Amino acid sequence: MAKIISFSNQKGGVGKTTTCVDLAAALAAVGKKVLVVDFDPQGNATSALGIFDKKLKASVYGVLCDELSFEDAIIPCKPDGLYLVPSSIDLAGAELELSQIVIGRERVLDERLDPVKDKFDFVFIDCPPSLGLLTVNALTASNGVLIPIQCEFFALEGLSQMMNTVKLVKKHLNASLDVTGVVLTMYDGRSKLSKGVLEEITKFFGDKVFETKIPRNIRLAEAPSYGKPITEYDNRCAGAVAYRALAAEFLSRETCE
Ligand code: ATP
Ligand code: MG
Repeated sequence: MAKIISFSNQKGGVGKTTTCVDLAAALAAVGKKVLVVDFDPQGNATSALGIFDKKLKASVYGVLCDELSFEDAIIPCKPDGLYLVPSSIDLAGAELELSQIVIGRERVLDERLDPVKDKFDFVFIDCPPSLGLLTVNALTASNGVLIPIQCEFFALEGLSQMMNTVKLVKKHLNASLDVTGVVLTMYDGRSKLSKGVLEEITKFFGDKVFETKIPRNIRLAEAPSYGKPITEYDNRCAGAVAYRALAAEFLSRETCE
């Protein structure tokens, strides 16, 4: 059975999509079978994996609306072992449509995902920067939530709200939901600010914080415009090294569990 992980933080631009896509690619490169579900109407994970077609026929929106099965919407990507269910802008309307379902609106994604769960090692869900029904659906379908945090002054702002949502989903919808880990992104080991954020986050999350930090690296910002994960775009840059290390640490934690 696949382990399902939501990449979530309601703050925008903290590295959710980059971490979701690049960790997934680094895991695929060591032989894991990983499905990335782009669950953000912005569709950044979709373009980061090379799908720039804005008029996609099969997307996660169609799957949510019961028109398609998950399998119909899966696109194989590079490296081998990496797969994507793309998003499209219609997903922005799904939040409203889901809200009109009277019973079970939080479980739609979970139910739809069921038939593909035994086909992957991991399913990674890239969440939008909000705590609305899309994110609640993602958390309800997940075994874990991975929280990327950008090393900046306002890093902790909003985190208690996020953790409250995780707590509520765990209590009412999905008892098996846990915090898989916290990844510090755009980290600069020489800056006082980054070190300060690390200290604060460690106070809050303890050993949930991954040892591996993702440095600020221009190659990571360039890769999506070429539609490639970092390990395919520039396998030797600092960003690729960091995401490979994160993949190794992630797997070693999985086996310790
Ligand atoms: P959103 O909330 O809009 O979904 P996000 O949390 O998914 O954003 P990303 O899209 O991953 O964040 O990253 C925001 C921007 O920062 C992107 O342009 C991305 O390429 C860039 N970026 C992410 N991580 C790094 C890094 N470590 N070094 C440099 N640039 C980065
Ligand atoms: Mg994103």
